[in-house]
Amino acid sequence: MRADISKFFRSTTGRLTLTYTLIIIIMSVGFSVIFYHTSSQELGRQLLPHSFYGNFIQDRFRPDITKFLQKRIELGRHELLLRLIFINITVLIIGGLISYWLARRTLEPIEQSMEAQAQFVSDASHELKTPLTAIRASNEVALRKPSLKLSEAKKVIEQNTEDVGKLQSLTEGLLRLASNGKPPKLAPLNLQDAATEAINSILPLAQAKNISIDDKTSDLVVMVDQVSLHQVITSLLDNAIKYSQPKTTITLESELKGRYALLYIKDQGVGIKASDLPYIFRRFYRADQSRAKNQADGYGLGLAIAQKLIEEQHGEIIAASTPGKGSTFTIKLLNST
Ligand code: ADP
Repeated sequence: MRADISKFFRSTTGRLTLTYTLIIIIMSVGFSVIFYHTSSQELGRQLLPHSFYGNFIQDRFRPDITKFLQKRIELGRHELLLRLIFINITVLIIGGLISYWLARRTLEPIEQSMEAQAQFVSDASHELKTPLTAIRASNEVALRKPSLKLSEAKKVIEQNTEDVGKLQSLTEGLLRLASNGKPPKLAPLNLQDAATEAINSILPLAQAKNISIDDKTSDLVVMVDQVSLHQVITSLLDNAIKYSQPKTTITLESELKGRYALLYIKDQGVGIKASDLPYIFRRFYRADQSRAKNQADGYGLGLAIAQKLIEEQHGEIIAASTPGKGSTFTIKLLNST
């Protein structure tokens, strides 16, 4: 019990509770001292002045009356002191409880953010470790060979270059997520032009997998940062290709809804289970680990980055999916027409 109490007061919550309680009690005691002092003076005034005796009361009663009044004043002061002590003890107990509640409320978000930070660092280190181990292992195997043929050495270098490329994209993604970034420069942009540009840059990937892209976007103007929006659409199209079978179609559509312009990216791919859907925007989250890890490249950062970029532009990305049938990702942006 004693150990628990001393542990509590050594903890951050304990120390903050103590600080808050101390502030409350210092203020309460301060007020009490001032109150006691002024009230005592007021009580002292109850003693009758000299002039009073000559005029109204005979002088011989003076000592008795003075004694009586002094006793009453003393009693009053004593009672006032007791009440103030009682009030301060109550303030200490209630203040202590309120301080604990306030300390928890203050510390909870800080603890949560520190936990998230620690989790992020641990996940990032884990993801960085895998390609680094692979590079080291393939280099060591090659070095141990007494005679390494040129073709074998080239193969090792090729593999290493590929792994370094992955590391590079991973670190770029991590930096993008970690940066607070300057506020994006928003400018009017035609959604149709943005879609066409993104489709053109990703087309070779779709063609390699025999996937067609159907662009049905219309002429809508949105307030965006052009570079960021390009990155987001490309990333969503890249996912749509990655998680779709050959000979399927990806469709892009747009619509005006109230103050917002919506861009839909629909695929006929594997879809996302309802249990995974709420988590796909989390850093490093990959739905259906085995399928994702074995068949599609990625670190689970694409959607987290896309969401961050769109939120910086006061927009939103919404995911909907039917497993086995396909997914629809909606980019919601402020319309400026
Ligand atoms: P990555 O694709 O690198 O794994 P993302 O952050 O882009 O990371 O996506 C997170 C997860 O969401 C993916 O691992 C995948 O399981 C799921 N996902 C994203 N887009 C789609 C899609 N169009 N179809 C099916 N699953 C998807």
